[in-house]
Order: sequence, then C-alpha cells, then structure tokens
Amino acid sequence: MSGRRLDGARPRAEVPERVTELSADWVLPVDGPPIAGGRVRWENGEIVEVGPGRAERHYADAAIVPGFVNAHSHLEYAVYAGFGDGASFGTWIRTHVERKRRLDSDDMVAIARCGVADSFRTGITTTADYSFSGAGAIAAAELGLRATVYLEVFADDPEDARRRFEEKRALVEETALVTIGVSPHAPYTCSLETYRWCLSLGIPVGTHLAESAAENEWLEHGTGALQDLPVLVPPTGKRAVATLEPVLGPELLCAHCVEVSADEIALLAERNVPVAHCPRSNALLGCGVAPVTAMRAAGIVVGLGTDSPASTPSVDVFEEMRAAIYAARALERRPEALLATDALHLATGEAARALRIDGRVGTLTPGKRADLAVVSLAGSPYHPVEDPAAAVVFGGSPERVLETIVDGQTRYLREEKEQWQEVRSTASAARRRMLAPKP
Ligand SMILES: [Zn+2]
Repeated sequence: MSGRRLDGARPRAEVPERVTELSADWVLPVDGPPIAGGRVRWENGEIVEVGPGRAERHYADAAIVPGFVNAHSHLEYAVYAGFGDGASFGTWIRTHVERKRRLDSDDMVAIARCGVADSFRTGITTTADYSFSGAGAIAAAELGLRATVYLEVFADDPEDARRRFEEKRALVEETALVTIGVSPHAPYTCSLETYRWCLSLGIPVGTHLAESAAENEWLEHGTGALQDLPVLVPPTGKRAVATLEPVLGPELLCAHCVEVSADEIALLAERNVPVAHCPRSNALLGCGVAPVTAMRAAGIVVGLGTDSPASTPSVDVFEEMRAAIYAARALERRPEALLATDALHLATGEAARALRIDGRVGTLTPGKRADLAVVSLAGSPYHPVEDPAAAVVFGGSPERVLETIVDGQTRYLREEKEQWQEVRSTASAARRRMLAPKP
C-alpha cells in the first residue's frame, strides 16, 4: 500500500477555477442565526468574512452550510452495502470479516476513494474514520478530505496492539488535512490494558462502545451472538460501559452508545466522554435506538456519524439527520425531542467538538478553515424558505449538494457528473470479488 502512495497515476479531485468567496440566498453559520442573502469569503483557506453580501458566484434558491463533520465512518467499507439483509449482529459481523479477507490492500484503497467521493457528494468535509487497513488515510490525503483516521487494533495483549498499530502506521502519512489516531476496536475485542496503551500515545483515540445487547451479553456472561467471533477478549463480568470505566474520558471518542442505562449516561457525562451517534446503522442492524436526547440533556457532546454502507444504506448525512430526528422523537414521544436545528448542529459544530477540532471547523466563523457545502432548495416543498435549517435538514439530499469545499478548495461540483466515474467503477470491481461464490 505504501507503493500506492507514490503512484503518480492516482486519481485526483479535479480542482476547478479557484474561488475565494461564495454567496447564496441563505447562509447558515450554525454559531449564529441564518443570514438571508449571505456571503462567505476566505483567504488562503481561512474564513475571513461571514455576513450579508453578494459574490460573483451566487447560488440562488440555495443555502451555504458548514461542511458536514462525520463523527463516525469507515471509508474503506464504502461498497459493503446490503450484506445479508436482516442478519443478526453476530452473523453480520462474521460475513463482514469473511468477505473483507478476499480483498488486497489496493482494493481497500480503491474502495476508500469511493468513500471519499460519497462523502463530498453529501457535503461532508471532515470525517472521523475508523480504518482497518489504513486505506482511509491514503484516500483522504489523495483526494483532499479532512480526516482524523483512527487505525484499528484488536488485541488482548497491549504488545500485540503496539505491533499491529506500528505495522499500519508505517503505511500512512499525516498531511495538513489528515491526522492519524488509533482505535481500540471495542471492549469485546480489546483489553483494558490495550485501551490504556492506546491512550498513552497522546494521539486521537476512538472506539465502538455499547453498540448492541450482544456486546453486553458477551462481556457479562461470555454467551450470546458474539461467542464465535475470532477476535474476542475474555469476558469481564461487567457491562460494556463498566468494563471501560477506568479509561473513560474526553480523549476517548465512543461510537454508538445504544445500550446505556441512566447511570451509565451519568458516568459518560461526568467524564466528558464524546459520543458519535449513528441512528441508521443502529436501526438497520436491529441494535436499538441510542438515547440521544437524554445524553445531550446530561451534557454529553454528541456528534452525528453515518457509519458506513456496511451497516447503513448510503453515505447520506441528510438521511442521517432525519433518522436522528425520527428516532429521538419516536423514543421520547414528543416532537421537540430533537429539532431540525439540533440535527444540523449534531452534524457540524457538535461533531467537531466531539472530535476536539471545533477550533478549526464545524461552523462558518472567521478564523476557521473554509470548509463548506452548498445545498439547493429549488423545487423542494421547503421553497420559498420559511425556516432555512428545516429546509436543509428535511429537504436536503446528496442530489441537492451543488458544491463542496474543503480548506478553500472546491472538491465536488454537481455539474461535473463524470468526475468520480473511474473511482466508482474500480470500487465496484472490488465488490464483485467480495460477492464471488466461495472457491
Ligand atoms: Zn464503526
């Protein structure tokens, strides 16, 4: 894979004419009220002005929003969609592992590039990517997606974790946009000592926590749907959150947190543990509904994550925001449990806080990096616009994203339809190999 890094023929995002300002009928800075007829201007990739005004390049019937911050992704699973519809969590994860073994490292990079393309297409400009092979870091660096890439380790013995991490770390490079972190995968695949070693590195650390009832059942009793997995650590006799209690803190980003009791929510809040909420993934795998309203009310910083097509139908931040709203309102039985404007915050400013990069991205604020997306509202039921946040959240879709800008550079333009064709067809070929009948 390191050879791939040096390959001069690798695909690059086409960078069209350089723009340094954009305007639209609406600008939603997220850290302040919507601006009608707003303009965003930047210099050297840094936002210098957000306010009323009109640029030469003006988007009518559209809204400019901060580039979305995806609090949980696996770019290298971009074409793992629909493996065994209706399979239990245990069966699903076994199929996933078996099919992944059919790929080589070039396949993994090809698929991760597709994940980057899908991210740009839905207006995502930053992602928190949990990467099994490191391919996410290579693809993000090549194509210009801002990313914290947490290299995954599965290990009972921290010495194994160190060796596995160093192998993967040697394949990837940090860039101005890509930061390398580490991911002890989950409390059922990593020991507490492995978590302690990961946290000692002083780099970003992310894990999966309390995703399913099966996880608690394995950890407490050593039984249930996970028991045949090849990567398990011994049961701890405690639930997932209690198992990790000694290491919980603001440095440990925790994806999912579906199976959390009121006491566990209080503990996560007390320790300032950031949570990545992935409602579509949790629903599709039949894991449940994370109590996002209760977690936010307790003071937990929650970011929204699309997870990957291995467990969601698509990389679609708009569907994810709507799913968060549906799930929260249905669970709480009240319509104000999560507002459209809350969902927009979960996918931008709060996700940036969860990743601890809110000083740089997440809102349209002078001094932050120029990461933004333009969403068309033309012809939607929300146009003419009454509430621009509701229009973006309920009316938005990847098909309505007109332009995505990272660090002041255009990375996606809807009108350039051919842009990602080769990336997509190479990733499809890798998927075909995964689906081939067993020899
Ligand atoms: Zn995940």
